[in-house]
Amino acid sequence: MSNSVKYIFVTGGVTSSLGKGIIAASLAKLLQARGYSITIQKLDPYINIDPGTLNPYEHGECYVTDDGAETDLDLGHYERFLNVPTSQANNITTGRIYQSVIEKERKGDFLGKTVQVIPHVTDEIKQRIQLLSKNNKYDIVITEIGGTVGDIESLPYIEAVRQMMWEHEKDCLVIHLTLIPYLSAAGELKTKPTQHSVKALLELGVQPDILCCRSEHELDLNLRRKIAKFCNVSMNAVIEARDASSIYDVPLLMQAEELDSVVLEKLSLSKKSTPELKTWKRFLKRLRNPKTDVNIALIGKYVELKDSYKSISEAFIHAGVSNDAKVNLNWIHSDKLDKSNIEKKLSHMDGILVAPGFGSRGVAGKIDAVQFAREHEIPFLGICLGMQCAVIEFARNVLNLDDANTTEIASKTSAPVIAMMEEQKSISDYGGTMRLGAYKCQLNPKSNIGKAFHSDLISERHRHRYEFNSEYRDLFESNGMIATGINPETGLVEVVEIPKHPWFVGVQFHPEYKSTVDEPHPLFVAFVGAALKNKKK
Ligand code: GLN
Repeated sequence: MSNSVKYIFVTGGVTSSLGKGIIAASLAKLLQARGYSITIQKLDPYINIDPGTLNPYEHGECYVTDDGAETDLDLGHYERFLNVPTSQANNITTGRIYQSVIEKERKGDFLGKTVQVIPHVTDEIKQRIQLLSKNNKYDIVITEIGGTVGDIESLPYIEAVRQMMWEHEKDCLVIHLTLIPYLSAAGELKTKPTQHSVKALLELGVQPDILCCRSEHELDLNLRRKIAKFCNVSMNAVIEARDASSIYDVPLLMQAEELDSVVLEKLSLSKKSTPELKTWKRFLKRLRNPKTDVNIALIGKYVELKDSYKSISEAFIHAGVSNDAKVNLNWIHSDKLDKSNIEKKLSHMDGILVAPGFGSRGVAGKIDAVQFAREHEIPFLGICLGMQCAVIEFARNVLNLDDANTTEIASKTSAPVIAMMEEQKSISDYGGTMRLGAYKCQLNPKSNIGKAFHSDLISERHRHRYEFNSEYRDLFESNGMIATGINPETGLVEVVEIPKHPWFVGVQFHPEYKSTVDEPHPLFVAFVGAALKNKKK
């Protein structure tokens, strides 16, 4: 057995949205369960430095890591499956690659050479892939290449893969994810798009070792044989990737197709023992057999694109399982919510979540939703902007500060209950400049959030510019909204609650980023628990 780090590349063909991230995460889960230490990296071919400046309608949620990287939502899947934190090194974009190459050029690092895609850009890409294998922290690095083979943008990445395969032949493996469409008119599964997609890879000098074939129907032996023959892969390397009812089924489906053992064989790695995946299976069993269900409203302004709230919806799946309940998420557009329809839309909800966000669109509807939850004693969780809306609502309707607002929306408000953080005031750039990443928070142990956690000192991830204005803290507390989570270093108010309400919690941080299958997030678990209690009532 070789001791060198192994590299697995996951590319995609035919169309986007085939679920490379889930296949990568599922394979990683299986290899992790066999005792290997794994990390997964996503290379995104767009020119933004990171997805932090992207509107969620573009690529869905921006996922934030402990070290404050604003990343692609696939990193959320990696963490949810592996239960291992990722970092900035796990998500690289073309923008970041070029930025670094250009900085080096300005410093004179290229010693008078003409700077070119090959070798300078491809060297930078290879370096970023190999960076993760430094210090022998991982046995295997899985690199998912964003986009679809044939895209102009992904050419340098495929070229970097080709070079890596040439330089480290025995340590590299390429998995190509393709589509086998079913033509109902012909009543047949079709392999041609896959053949073309493999040809497109071959033109770039890359022969895939394994094909994962997304399909709505079973791939029979003949079809597998045909794919193997036309695409130069062994029969056992044609892996069927059938549509699954839950993304959490995919590791077991891949195990049934022996994806992990084929990978280990091809990389000459020992198989160790076949993983039992006991905890995973227990999770799936509970997921499939809920004892009850619960209705939760998710109020947000991007609800047409559910990927915008990926980590939140996944955290509800985890928390539902912990409560043996199916969480029915009711996606409610904050833009379309107002006093005239709120009763109809929210009165049958067992819990209400007001989502994070930026800017003024949809905020009025969010504030109405908070008021409804507060006055009707419906369990409430406000995340980031959702927490800020809870503070504004309380200020307006309980403290009678009619003009209360966040300075993000009304810079001249006479009651800036949410205001820009001091350190943010001198910043003019948008990219990567928010308060980002993990910060400690000291909890009041008697509060709802304090009871949800085992420890009073927690660490949660942030992504914001505005904060509760502590000048108002006494006024809020003497009227029934109290600060139950404080940053121990800065004194910033990170959590607010209304103790008179059955369960009303607003958090400045994003608990959803840290919820995993192995460790459902305590705050989501407690919120779903409170919603269930409310339902019984
Ligand atoms: N827009 C708000 C801020 O910057 C909230 C951000 C968020 O919800 N992530 O503080």
